[in-house]
Amino acid sequence: MKKTKEEGQLIVISGPSGCGKGTIVKEVLKTNDKTWGSISCTSRKPRKGDVEGRDYYFLSKEEFEKGIKEGKFLEYAEYADNYYGTPRGAIQEKLDQGIDVILEIEIQGALKIKELLEDTIFIFILPPSMKELKKRLEGRNTETKDKITKRFLTAYKEINEVNKYNYVVVNDEVDLAVKKVNSILLSEKCRVDRIEESYLNSLEEEIHEILREDKIFINEKLNI
Ligand code: ADP
Ligand code: 5GP
Repeated sequence: MKKTKEEGQLIVISGPSGCGKGTIVKEVLKTNDKTWGSISCTSRKPRKGDVEGRDYYFLSKEEFEKGIKEGKFLEYAEYADNYYGTPRGAIQEKLDQGIDVILEIEIQGALKIKELLEDTIFIFILPPSMKELKKRLEGRNTETKDKITKRFLTAYKEINEVNKYNYVVVNDEVDLAVKKVNSILLSEKCRVDRIEESYLNSLEEEIHEILREDKIFINEKLNI
């Protein structure tokens, strides 16, 4: 018998560029086989090491704008002069299969999802300090100095939005941050609103059965 709702949960993970979202999500997907990461579309150019269809679907600006007109995205936003968007597609199918779906997206998109799908779990990743964020952004070596400055300044706005999220995870150590995210996913499965009514009824029915077997007769309504 199903004891709790088996459908997957939608999880949005955001945080300033360079805080370690991608690193954490990659590990969560690797260590938790009941999770699936949605692959976004973007008009930004692939970085060294980016793989089409694994990291993103890379589109031209024109292709992306055509996709917007055709309603291909669940949400999309402009970030650092490029478009980023979540394709509709497989999300509902995965949730129906009991798989948790992770969207690693920036804040404007996250707020759109909040309007559309209120059951979503929102997790915000923060760096231990802004000095460390800058170090990570520079250390990643994927953007020009100008672009790093732009992303760093955007972080200033983003950290003020943390209150719109349900959870915050400070990414000091990757392993601990991954454990925290996995713990959040597990705890969310234990929410009272995920319990199956039929399971509760069966527990009640069992009490009556046990009492009958033990020949303890009581009123229909247990008045204890
Ligand atoms: P984001 O996806 O948030 O932009 P990344 O996952 O690309 O960030 O991480 C940015 C850089 O910081 C990468 O070079 C990554 O290896 C490094 N990094 C991530 N988490 C940590 C951490 N806990 N400690 C030190 N470096 C980290
Ligand atoms: P990056 O260029 O570093 O890969 O991503 C830049 C920002 O875009 C990150 O904050 C990332 O989470 C966000 N992002 C990636 N995919 C999407 C998406 O589909 N929608 C939105 N709104 N943001 C996204």
